[in-house]
Amino acid sequence: MYSLAQHKYPPSLHHQSCTSDSLLCRARVYCTTTTNTKSRSGDKQLAIEQRPVLPAPPVVAAANRLIENDPSLNSTWSHRAWVAAGCTTLLISLGQSTKVAADLHMWVEPIIAGYVGYILADLGSGIYHWGIDNYGDGSTPFVGSQIEAFQGHHKLPWTITRRHFANNLHALARAVTFIVLPIDLVCHDPTVQAFVAMFAGCIMFSQQFHAWAHGTKSRLPPLVVALQEARVLVSRSQHGAHHRPPYNNNYCIVSGVWNEFLDEHKVFEAMELILYFTLGVRPRSWSEPTSEWLEETEIPL
Ligand SMILES: [Zn+2]
Ligand SMILES: [Zn+2]
Repeated sequence: MYSLAQHKYPPSLHHQSCTSDSLLCRARVYCTTTTNTKSRSGDKQLAIEQRPVLPAPPVVAAANRLIENDPSLNSTWSHRAWVAAGCTTLLISLGQSTKVAADLHMWVEPIIAGYVGYILADLGSGIYHWGIDNYGDGSTPFVGSQIEAFQGHHKLPWTITRRHFANNLHALARAVTFIVLPIDLVCHDPTVQAFVAMFAGCIMFSQQFHAWAHGTKSRLPPLVVALQEARVLVSRSQHGAHHRPPYNNNYCIVSGVWNEFLDEHKVFEAMELILYFTLGVRPRSWSEPTSEWLEETEIPL
């Protein structure tokens, strides 16, 4: 006699919310284990018991409706002002780089520097995301609100698709403004400026790339889907893996180009061990992964 334990996450409990102007029905999928595998003594046949599909618990449906109308997902004028400030500082960097490069007929170095900035921004997004996913809380200076927001995102990942553009970007835009503006004022090297513009720009817009990674193909702009499939932007499948067990991989959210290397070489796990043995702090990923999560997906009507 033997027993076989299976852990799967099929869409077992559905709550559907259909809009009249759409041919697609969006469903919030409440994921849990539903397939039981049993064995009998002396009988090598596996009996698979399939639980019936049940309607979503009222509390989940009610929570979804509340989030649908949650004003905290909307942009405020303060959010828009910070995003405008961030974009302005990035444009100054880009403009200065282009002007000086044109004056000096020097293009190769700024283009290479811009590409390096794009590649390193993906790595930076992964390190930052790993840090706020695993350490600190709402009271942590400077990034407490970001930590809370990412914790909320892990409980209800699909809500990022409802978050307005400036609401989603304003925290990173504020950081970009404070860091890039002084560089704009003191540095006029086109290579440095190209690097700064691309690196900071990709970091600032990483939350938009992240939101697109949670989008459904039919609702995303075709250009975004093409860029995701070309791996210029982080793909939906790659980021989807971040929200599935063991919940400790695929942290990079610009292009995702670093994810495979970092996960294969267990870089973040090594950093977690170093921090644990030197400072005694445990990362959240060791103790808080949960098999219950909500994900937005789409099913044809
Ligand atoms: Zn995360
Ligand atoms: Zn996510």
